[in-house]
Amino acid sequence: MTDNWMRIADISPHHTTPMVRQFLQAKAECGDSLLFFRMGDFYELFFEDAIETAELLNLALTSRDGADKDKRIPMCGVPVRAVDGYVAKLVRMGRAVTICEQMEDPREAKGIVKRQVVRTVTPGTVMEAELLEDGCNNFLAAVCAADAAASAAFVDITTGEFLTLAADASGVAVLDEFARLAPSEILIADGADSALAATLRKRFPETAFTKRPPEEFDPEQAGETLLHLFRLSTLKGLGDLADAAGALGCAGALIAYIRETQRDSMPHLALPRHQQPSAFVALDANTQRNLELTATLSDKSKRGSLLGVLDRTLTGMGERKLRHWILHPPAKVNAILERQQAVTELFENITLRMTTRDCLKGMPDIERLLGRISASAGNARDVKALGAALGRTPELRNALEATEAPLLRGLFDALDPLDDITSRIDKALVNEPPMTLNEGNLIREGYNEELDRLRGLVHGGKNWIATLQQQERDRTGIAKLKVGYNRVFGYYIEISKGQANFAPADYERKQTLANAERFITPELKQREEEILTAQERMQSIEYDLFLELRRAVAAEAARIRNNADCIAALDAFAALADVAAANNYCRPDINDSGAIHIKDGRHPVVEAVTRQGEFVPNDTHLDCRGTRMLIMTGPNMAGKSTYLRQVALLCLMAQMGGYVPASSASIGVVDRIFTRVGASDNLVRGESTFMVEMIETAAILNTATENSLLVLDEIGRGTSTYDGISIAWSVAEYIHDTIRARTLFATHYHELTELGEKLEHAGNVNVAVRDWQDTIVFLYRVVEGGADHSYGIQVAKLAGLPTDVLKRARDILESLEAGGPATGAAEEAACRQMYLFAPAAAHEPGEIEKELERVDPDALSPREAQTLLYHLKHLANRPRGT
Ligand code: ADP
Repeated sequence: MTDNWMRIADISPHHTTPMVRQFLQAKAECGDSLLFFRMGDFYELFFEDAIETAELLNLALTSRDGADKDKRIPMCGVPVRAVDGYVAKLVRMGRAVTICEQMEDPREAKGIVKRQVVRTVTPGTVMEAELLEDGCNNFLAAVCAADAAASAAFVDITTGEFLTLAADASGVAVLDEFARLAPSEILIADGADSALAATLRKRFPETAFTKRPPEEFDPEQAGETLLHLFRLSTLKGLGDLADAAGALGCAGALIAYIRETQRDSMPHLALPRHQQPSAFVALDANTQRNLELTATLSDKSKRGSLLGVLDRTLTGMGERKLRHWILHPPAKVNAILERQQAVTELFENITLRMTTRDCLKGMPDIERLLGRISASAGNARDVKALGAALGRTPELRNALEATEAPLLRGLFDALDPLDDITSRIDKALVNEPPMTLNEGNLIREGYNEELDRLRGLVHGGKNWIATLQQQERDRTGIAKLKVGYNRVFGYYIEISKGQANFAPADYERKQTLANAERFITPELKQREEEILTAQERMQSIEYDLFLELRRAVAAEAARIRNNADCIAALDAFAALADVAAANNYCRPDINDSGAIHIKDGRHPVVEAVTRQGEFVPNDTHLDCRGTRMLIMTGPNMAGKSTYLRQVALLCLMAQMGGYVPASSASIGVVDRIFTRVGASDNLVRGESTFMVEMIETAAILNTATENSLLVLDEIGRGTSTYDGISIAWSVAEYIHDTIRARTLFATHYHELTELGEKLEHAGNVNVAVRDWQDTIVFLYRVVEGGADHSYGIQVAKLAGLPTDVLKRARDILESLEAGGPATGAAEEAACRQMYLFAPAAAHEPGEIEKELERVDPDALSPREAQTLLYHLKHLANRPRGT
């Protein structure tokens, strides 16, 4: 800040103008947020806010006089019509914005214009379409830890969804849920020194954390708030939430925050749904990421994820529902079967599927529209679009009428035709209303008498003139009397000079022309005034009628939301049926057997990007009572990871109620899916690959149960060979003997195949490859038994390592396999022939050799191999002595 910039603290209480006082009052209401202060066609920012905003948004910073002549008040502004974009940018940068509006027309204001803070926009409370993704929720969360148990609540004010989560002693389920719902803002009680909050901050570095007064988390107060907000007489109807103090407190904190940020425009919320973590398959954050359920690991895009393949939904609400299902597969057989029946009926009954989907095509997002409308932010197009969307309900009900699956029947019963709402909207609004609300043209003819009369007045001007003319001719007997209009004098009655004397007494002379006199009458005057103001009055009547309609629609929010939820579920069911039909999936048998049998399973995503018919299907057999652990060996690139993930994904798809890419499948349900695959992006947080791997492994060993599915890829890879083997070995033994979960264990340590033979419930499989003319051919077929060798050098060859390096590597390998040192005397002659290793080379003798000795070809990805090669070349080309 330059020295002559004035700060808020510099304002002297004696020198304030009314405007500055008004500004300070608004500022006092907006906490840390940036105050957008409406002044005519601009929102202006002042003082520190202006300096910060000008920098963040790259706006010109100007100034105005301060009371102190040496100091100037920094200021910057954005035009009102572009405000949404600017607010969106700031919020995306993690800043909150408070909007202070002018509450009256400046032309009509006596003294200073009334202003009022109308709302605060924060990452978790945005309504701006620019900041929202169609198929994605924008959750605001609150979290608290009491008596060492963590609870949380989540709300999406743009759709009204409201979830609470039961207390969880370890905090694990709560953390998992945060990973699933990815809230954009998290409320925590100020001063609560909670380890949970610290963990959350570390895990979700990009999320905004907002401290709130601790009393807002008070469960008792929260109970009152809920009763009042939902007009309930008891909390009992909310199920277990009534007794879940922590979750209740979090729900209360959310409502208090929404009230504070939205002021008078509290959006309509659904009744909170209380979630028991045990109802769903537990998927920790790593598993969600590793299995690429809703986003890819590499670029976080939906394309290339499981959601990318399954999402054949036709509406934003449907996509959000499907995303939720993918992340929350039911853990209980009955719940899964219910869903599966619905998908099956839509799969088998093609007419039903097509009619349903035709009806859903292009349907506007009811939840988001309702969100805006109930928060008094929706315009006439929003209400019209809502009416059009709801108008399709009868058609959907017709389609569902003859269905048999209980969940589809349930949707039929629950879908409310909502005729009253749709017909009211239809009667009120014209077909294509404008975006603006105060320029008229919103309301249909015949909806309001006064409006029709005014319209008649304006549009029917000619008619009225003719009628009045006739009436006055009859009254005065002057046959040539004319009624006319001109811009300067308005309406007039014109009589020729010769007959002017016959004008009745109530005619008032207005203008004299060469051969005529013009008069006005009180009736004419009144009419004229009416017409002149009719336009304005029409606009204000239309505005009021619209607000009344919007309020009436918002008052039915609960019924409308219920329909939206049904439509979302129907869309998601139909999408699952459609993808099953299109990709040739089968209906899995779901049971409690503890066994997984898959015939010809395919990876849904890899299959989709592989050329038709080129994906090699594989079987899987895992049985808690039989072989429950498969040790999988095979060279890099053979398809191990694909196979591992495929099994996990098929279980998940089956448990969410969908069909699976296989020719047949029987899935004994799992309660958790754990994956430990590859290096994760924790590296940027400064933890070593090995540390991350061990933390994740520890979490799995500490939480997995007999009913879990464990997918472990390359455990122990991040450390030296002997450490690695030992850890992998003991982890496998522990899972086998103690946890007894179904497990897929991929490793490039051949030594571990011994485990497959030794342990009672373990078996060996490998991915077949063929050596062909010293080149490796991947067959992608999973077969019984361990791989005989690792083919690392062949893979390196595929990656394009120079022949000399490959040849040398092969020599070293042979020597190692024969039990000799890597660079024994026998190799020296060969070494000398190669420039790289020649003693005259420009590096310390043995440096490259040492480098090569350190590498484990099996552990190298093609990329790493290439990097190594560059490094070797660099060493070789270095001038002597450097
Ligand atoms: P690994 O984990 O053994 O290094 P991956 O599972 O990453 O190997 O597979 C390497 C590539 O092989 C995949 O990207 C995919 O293109 C292809 N692939 C894997 N499994 C199959 C399969 N069953 N059929 C066809 N191609 C496959």
